Amino acid sequence: MTGYVSGKLTAVRRLRESRREVFLWVCRCECGKTKLVSVADLHQKKVKSCGCLKAERRNDPKLVKRREAILALHTQGVAIMAIARQFDISRQRVYQILEQYKETEE
Ligand SMILES: [Zn+2]
Repeated sequence: MTGYVSGKLTAVRRLRESRREVFLWVCRCECGKTKLVSVADLHQKKVKSCGCLKAERRNDPKLVKRREAILALHTQGVAIMAIARQFDISRQRVYQILEQYKETEE
């Protein structure tokens, strides 16, 4: 699995001491940081960066637009369930997006 790529991460080596039988990989991020990722998360590409990708995405104009659209619908009283369906995301994600919006507004 050495050299395995998930987004910005490249698996460098497996950590020898793995607690709770969860094998961790030391990954190098494109930005230069390292991050420990479990094999499952890496293989399913659940984790794609050291965290810098999330920060980038937050400022992605497309996503800012989506976030604003979601907030507008929410303000109009559209149910979270309906918003989630419209944008093809989970309800939890809608809540997260609304939370993020609050953070950036403050
Ligand atoms: Zn990074």
